[in-house]
Amino acid sequence: MSTNKRVLITGAAGFLGSHLCDRFIKEGYDVVGMDNLITGDLKNIEHLFKLKEFEFYHHDISKFVHVPGQIDYILHFASPASPIDYLKIPIQTLKVGSLGTHNLLGFARVKNARILVASTSEVYGDPTVHPQTENYWGNVNPIGPRGVYDEAKRFQEAITMAYHTYHNVETRIVRIFNTYGPRMRLNDGRVLPAFIGQALRGEDLTVFGDGSQTRSFCYVDDLIEGIYRLLLSNYAYPVNIGNPQEITIREFGEEIIKLTGTNQKLITHPLPQDDPKQRRPDITKAQEILGWEPKINREEGLKITYDYFKSLPIEELNKTEHRFT
Ligand code: UDP
Repeated sequence: MSTNKRVLITGAAGFLGSHLCDRFIKEGYDVVGMDNLITGDLKNIEHLFKLKEFEFYHHDISKFVHVPGQIDYILHFASPASPIDYLKIPIQTLKVGSLGTHNLLGFARVKNARILVASTSEVYGDPTVHPQTENYWGNVNPIGPRGVYDEAKRFQEAITMAYHTYHNVETRIVRIFNTYGPRMRLNDGRVLPAFIGQALRGEDLTVFGDGSQTRSFCYVDDLIEGIYRLLLSNYAYPVNIGNPQEITIREFGEEIIKLTGTNQKLITHPLPQDDPKQRRPDITKAQEILGWEPKINREEGLKITYDYFKSLPIEELNKTEHRFT
């Protein structure tokens, strides 16, 4: 029997889940990946299947969760996470954040495991406080198109704190801001894969609204490092992890045009309902508690990500899905 610590990662075949699997394998853990594959892709973890330290369960965690044997840590990263997904599968989005989280917290309790749940900057909604600190309560429209994701994640935070307080489960909550890098789905509708995909196909880049809305993009390796440190810390309250380098979407489009050398231009489409006008993490807490801050700037991170997208087979590139119809 292995003497390694054993970690369960939900959403293992997704963008962040698959990077977490890699990181925990690298750190010497045994990893149990779980995914129902509605938005995840086995290609992201197929390189792990040959390892004896890795197991995979094809399972929907909104149903009862069981894994035999010891589990020391749980990382809950299962959820549709891009607007295009949660518009298409709103009920599953609500269920995985609520019923799924409840199941995993119960499972953590039974196994005496520490659990870290993936929350999001979306809990701040369309924020009126800028940059966003963890003590800001947010400005969320519960019945708007993004409400299914935002409220599922807000419920997730509430039930996670309740298990911490009433059942003494060791819990951690990370609030993840916009993240990018290899293994993002090219057709997931989010701005970076959308722009790079359009540039690669020779289409114009679709800026929603006037493009003055801002986001702050974090490279995936930086994010994973922050999550790793948070899991091993003793801090149970939410922590923002993201890169505070803020940019307007229009400027971001211009950066992608420069990076890809495309001759295409920016064109505008209507702004989706409830699209946050500004977003930037205040990371003071992560700096103080975890000694963490991002190391990879946008220029470097975008170059790596572009090289990844360029290397994908042409069929992937043509599987486009547009948010505007
Ligand atoms: N966006 C855009 N063009 C696209 C896709 C997205 O201008 O083709 C905008 C979107 O309206 C939002 C920002 O880019 O203001 C980031 O959108 P994304 O879906 O990546 O994530 P969000 O941060 O809104 O969850």
